[in-house]
Amino acid sequence: MNSVYLSLVIPVYNEEVNLRELVERCTKTCEGIGKSYEIVLVDDGSRDRSVEMIKRASAEHPQIVGVILNRNYGQHSAVMAGLAQARGEVVVTLDADLQNPPEEIPKLLAEIDKGADVVGSVRQLRKDSLFRKLSSALVNKAVQMATGVLMHDYGCMLRAYRRPVVDAMLQCHERSTFIPVLGNMFAHKTAEVPVEHAKRENDQSKYSLLKLINLQFDLLTSMTTFPLRLLSLIGGGLAILGFILAGLLIVLRIIYGPEWAAQGVFTVFAILFIFMGTQILAMGLLGEYIGRIYNDVRARPRYFIREIVSQQAATPRE
Ligand code: UDP
Ligand code: MG
Repeated sequence: MNSVYLSLVIPVYNEEVNLRELVERCTKTCEGIGKSYEIVLVDDGSRDRSVEMIKRASAEHPQIVGVILNRNYGQHSAVMAGLAQARGEVVVTLDADLQNPPEEIPKLLAEIDKGADVVGSVRQLRKDSLFRKLSSALVNKAVQMATGVLMHDYGCMLRAYRRPVVDAMLQCHERSTFIPVLGNMFAHKTAEVPVEHAKRENDQSKYSLLKLINLQFDLLTSMTTFPLRLLSLIGGGLAILGFILAGLLIVLRIIYGPEWAAQGVFTVFAILFIFMGTQILAMGLLGEYIGRIYNDVRARPRYFIREIVSQQAATPRE
């Protein structure tokens, strides 16, 4: 049934200047690999001639599948749309802007052959602006701390996924996704390879500052509800501080007499701390519920079976 070995999934947003070269280099690389392949180009509501070019490319090459979205949904949603169409045993995602050379794909496939479920890539000598590099570095650190999965470069979309991982990702129906993190969740074995990184040759990055900030929030919320829990921690801390202060004031008041207490001003502070603390704590409690609602609404698969081992002939169950 699944006759395609390799699917490339490429989101395209106003990339008319890069498309021709992209298609050329991708087909050449895939031909070189010598296995059946398809190239899924997902148009994410481009306003330039990208759609037209994708249609033409698909008419010329039987291996090219065009998926045209009605408007701009963002890179990760576009990739999801592409994953849903991809039929390959192995799916490789990459950017349309040729910053990750398609010629690196065989390197990823080599790691897949060695048994990895997900192969990430680390950009050597990144050719992005300092600001982009800095924000990426921060994000990478945060992800590493939160998920415990050690991958060095979450910003790099040149990645390979095995079919079971893709299927698992497609079962996640949440709106805000960050695909590399999602992929790692369902991987048993991951690997990383160093890849070249070219400058964006022909035009500008498609990410504005606002879109970038949005993306970082997607990343953060897609892996953890920890920020909500932070409220409980802060609230609890403040309340405890208030109680300690109150106790301290009582002791000092007894030692130094009523003049020291400044007509109860300090006491007011202590009471304030206690109230503030309990308030934030209560908010944190709400946060805990919201976190659980969020997880349920997201309805990610609760577990993911890698394989079932049994002596009986495996009969697929409906
Ligand atoms: N992209 C997209 N939708 C968007 C923004 C970007 O499909 O709303 C695509 C874009 O065409 C490119 C990839 O996502 O293929 C990465 O975009 P870009 O190279 O601008 O991001 P950067 O390299 O700055 O991370
Ligand atoms: Mg880019």
